Amino acid sequence: MTRSLYDLDSGQLEALVAEAGEPPYRARQLTHWLDSRRQPDPRAMTNLPRGLRARLSERFAGAGLTLDRHQAGDDGWTHKLLFRLPGGDAVESVLMLYPPAGAGPDDDWEGGRQGRATVCISTQAGCAMGCTFCATGQFGFTRHLSVGEVVEQVARVSTMLPELRPGPGAPDHLTNVVFMGMGEPFANQKATWGAAYRLHQGFGLSARAITISTVGLVPGIRRAAAEPLRVNLAVSIHAASDELRDRLVPVNRSWPIAELLDAVGDYVAATRRRVSFEYALMAGVNDDLEQAGRLGRLLAPLRVPGSGGHAAHVNLIPYNPTPGTGFFPPSRSAVRRFRDAVAASGVPVSIRANRGVGIDAACGQLRTAAGRPGRRPLPVAGPS
Ligand code: SAH
Ligand code: SF4
Repeated sequence: MTRSLYDLDSGQLEALVAEAGEPPYRARQLTHWLDSRRQPDPRAMTNLPRGLRARLSERFAGAGLTLDRHQAGDDGWTHKLLFRLPGGDAVESVLMLYPPAGAGPDDDWEGGRQGRATVCISTQAGCAMGCTFCATGQFGFTRHLSVGEVVEQVARVSTMLPELRPGPGAPDHLTNVVFMGMGEPFANQKATWGAAYRLHQGFGLSARAITISTVGLVPGIRRAAAEPLRVNLAVSIHAASDELRDRLVPVNRSWPIAELLDAVGDYVAATRRRVSFEYALMAGVNDDLEQAGRLGRLLAPLRVPGSGGHAAHVNLIPYNPTPGTGFFPPSRSAVRRFRDAVAASGVPVSIRANRGVGIDAACGQLRTAAGRPGRRPLPVAGPS
């Protein structure tokens, strides 16, 4: 079953066109619509003959993503979209817009000289990793997305962008893609890498415009070190001792911090790329200065070969409250204290602007609010 037109490669598109009795250049037109125009709907492909359009839409009627919900937040600078997948499950994609430097409401927001439009995409419906603070993790795993379903999220958000942008000051095209939505990208390597290559080769995004975030699956990090496409890597660390990380991120029991950092060290040695470490700050859980000091000591030795500069960059994310988890963000001053304690080790650290708090925009939250027919959320295990 083809789940999205983006699941078809150029050979398959050619076969499809030939089967319809059309000349081969129609396949190139189709590819142009899919990749350059980012338009997955055959009915909108106006330079294709009416008959071919009808045939394609009939054949792929059950494929593709259907927009189920849309919520705008941050005065229209953040948009959360819930897409229904063939078969009924749903995933979310979040568009975050950043104005050019100096033009925004707040320094945290600025997106460099040109502004930035980042889309955060999902790789799985649900997630099997079970992180205790994460709405997606608490839902459990439903299924992997196909390559095409991952790519189509980017296409859909791209084509919606002109109507979603809050004003002429906002960027008018997508500049960045982050694999930080629902699911663990390295638990679905086929779709993750298939999509990353299609976004680069087909959609024309540079490798540096693409970021993959992992909970710390060591085999995935090792594969990233060997892939020719040098995307950015983000590692969700969230704790600096195994005792605490075991409780927040259960996969730590399989790949404890030392093994994780060993793999990241090899990745840095092979790629000479910096790695960001995501740390969701939760009041009274992982926001004490002992964790901050440990984190600094763990990451300070990671250096880019040659330049000797720090290879780690810490992103602190004040926890986005998720109903029922029992976790809360620390006060602003506690966040700043934590940042300063990490910075004392020399490791670069920043506090990430919390986007979409009013629209449940943290990982998995929109789908939690939308519910899922026939399945109840798992009971939530807080830290003991
Ligand atoms: N599975 C991958 C990518 C998706 S999660 C990973 O874990 O890295 C994207 C990021 O959002 C992760 O760093 C995750 O830990 C974080 N996150 C999840 N729920 C959150 C919440 N309620 N508040 C803040 N960050 C959250
Ligand atoms: Fe999965 Fe990432 Fe959520 Fe953990 S934080 S449950 S790995 S989506």
